[in-house]
Amino acid sequence: MIPLPPQKEEKKLITFEENNEIFKATLSTYNAWTEMKKDSKKVGIELILVSAFRSIKRQEELINDKRKKGIPDKEIFKVLAPAGHSEHHTGCALDLHTPNSAILEEDFEKTLAFAWLNKNAGLYGFELSYPRNNPYGVVYEPWHWCFRDKSNLVVKN
Ligand SMILES: [Zn+2]
Repeated sequence: MIPLPPQKEEKKLITFEENNEIFKATLSTYNAWTEMKKDSKKVGIELILVSAFRSIKRQEELINDKRKKGIPDKEIFKVLAPAGHSEHHTGCALDLHTPNSAILEEDFEKTLAFAWLNKNAGLYGFELSYPRNNPYGVVYEPWHWCFRDKSNLVVKN
């Protein structure tokens, strides 16, 4: 098992609203996401944003909430990165959802939305960060996609 690398908290973020919720992300991530969502919709796939940027402070709060519930750290860190190590700090990671599927559950992998993402997300610069049996000991997260700045993308920023 290798430890999750440290992630810098991004300060240059844009704020946007979707489904009556406020999100923050980097501009490139937002642009790539918007394009990907638009194209998926054309083929009948509905992608819903669940979370994007998260501060280091917010990550600490989430961890402390679980500790207060008596959940051991060993279990907490299977589902939450330690503060300062979450890709959500970078403003490039998105958690996605689709209707008629449990939210942030492994079952997301059985949806058409996931099949579409698996095939197409790379074209927009998104990668699945935590596949099954990943070397970080993080649970399989089919909903968690991270935008990585790469050339030869469909989206130009
Ligand atoms: Zn995530």
